[in-house]
Amino acid sequence: MTNSSTQALSVLTVPAFHDNYLWLIHDGVHAVAVDPGDAKPIRAALEANGLKLTAILLTHHHADHIGGVPELLQHYQVPVFGPRNETIAAVTLPVGEGKVFDVPGLPLRLSVLDVPGHTMGHIAYVREATDDAPTWLFCGDTLFAGGCGRLFEGTPAQMISSLGKLAALPDDTKVYCAHEYTLSNLRFARVVEPDNVALQERVKVETDKREHNLPTVPSTIGVEKATNPFLRYREPAIAEQLVQAGRLDRIDTPLATFTALRLWKNDF
Ligand SMILES: [Zn+2]
Repeated sequence: MTNSSTQALSVLTVPAFHDNYLWLIHDGVHAVAVDPGDAKPIRAALEANGLKLTAILLTHHHADHIGGVPELLQHYQVPVFGPRNETIAAVTLPVGEGKVFDVPGLPLRLSVLDVPGHTMGHIAYVREATDDAPTWLFCGDTLFAGGCGRLFEGTPAQMISSLGKLAALPDDTKVYCAHEYTLSNLRFARVVEPDNVALQERVKVETDKREHNLPTVPSTIGVEKATNPFLRYREPAIAEQLVQAGRLDRIDTPLATFTALRLWKNDF
């Protein structure tokens, strides 16, 4: 029996380390690995599902996102897509915003967004909606379920712009972020926006998933826009809460609110 190349694509969740998610996009035959920080669970998932790796996609240079690449390349000679504005030795095809490309071996076309903030060259990969599936977003450590990445290299203004690009995607976009930080993020979100009913509901839903050992990721852009303080920093209630908590001197610009919010989360 031959496998049809028209089989719909799906995304496999591959947990790694303490709380990372690595992703395998596949059609039942071929697979591409997103941010394989560890080769072992990727190789095990490929083997368990009878998949052949045809490409690697990287969002940024941190070790927990790229650490498994050398070992994977020993077993699979595949192209490695990665951010053009970062230096990652294994990258053979540097890409950046505006680039649209077909992933080898799969009926998968991706476009690239530059999303600096967590790192300076961080990129995200977007697959447009099809008849079978909504838009998919692979955003590394930029947007998290209920939160956003720490600003290790970029500025708050850069992160605002990056998150704005992601928030502009359709509400049903699936957000494949790289960590299971959701409950901890939502604990902070509730302190920042205690009267947000959608957020209170989400806490129940996500807590239930974790109690059953299920991932809370992927999320959707719509859910994030309704509950994630780092997409909601323009809400007056959030700025007021920051002032009340002594984290902001007075109601100021959205940039000042976002900056104070990110700093508070760092200490939370
Ligand atoms: Zn990172």
